Amino acid sequence: MPELPEVEHVVRFITPEIEGARLRGLLPLDGRGALVSHAKLVRSGQRPAALSEQLAARRVRSVRRRAKLIVIELDAGLALVIHLKITGKLWVVPEGRAVGRHDRVRIGLPRRRALVLEDMRKFGWIGLFDADGLAGLCAKLGPEPLDDAFRLPVWRAILARRPKSKIKAVLLDQAALAGVGNIYADEICHAARVSPHRRCAELAGREEAALHRSIRKILTRAVDERSGAPDQKRVGSGGTRRDWSESPVTIKVFQRHGERCPTCRRATIERSVVGTRGTHACPRCQP
Ligand SMILES: [Zn+2]
Repeated sequence: MPELPEVEHVVRFITPEIEGARLRGLLPLDGRGALVSHAKLVRSGQRPAALSEQLAARRVRSVRRRAKLIVIELDAGLALVIHLKITGKLWVVPEGRAVGRHDRVRIGLPRRRALVLEDMRKFGWIGLFDADGLAGLCAKLGPEPLDDAFRLPVWRAILARRPKSKIKAVLLDQAALAGVGNIYADEICHAARVSPHRRCAELAGREEAALHRSIRKILTRAVDERSGAPDQKRVGSGGTRRDWSESPVTIKVFQRHGERCPTCRRATIERSVVGTRGTHACPRCQP
């Protein structure tokens, strides 16, 4: 599932492709003129034809990320929001390219191109919101971990409000902190040498600080690595289908249970569960 670094990567990739572009509404997915693959795709409630009409001739002012949301700011105070959820991917392809089996919506771009949301599992969604709608969508999201405003006292306050929660559960809670998912939560705990099962009230001050540093370090590194990935230029160009979520290079513990810990090189990484989520940690590095 794409987390903050992956969504940031998508935003950085599509920005030069669509910024300033005038949209052409939704392009049909099949010979019968279907504009979306399934009704639940449009979170903001418009019928596909109405959405298409509202998008047509709107110009893209900017693209940004908020938590795991891709926010495409349009003129007229509107924002097209896309959530990739578990398997969603965004591509910019030539309009003439055959419609893929998992293409959910195709948004027309200038020069006979299309912005395509491909999503095997259909949890991803799009929506067109005005300023109030967008504010409502973002109202319950916690702070952005890479913003300058996310300083140690902010983090300590987040932990203090959740004394009985396990630290991993807090990292995953989008209302506490925006953008972290299962992979980076495990990596952050590992980098901070804190067991994901520790409860917030039990953390020492230096552990709170180590977690804060690790949140910034792991996410920054993951964003940088993604941006520098050799396949970056090809992703979304229509020429290749390579998946940007493959083999992230930062991963030390996530789904590496049974392997020797790359940090201490002595213990074996163990798998456990926090909430419903598979959790991976080194018992030696993260007591
Ligand atoms: Zn270890």
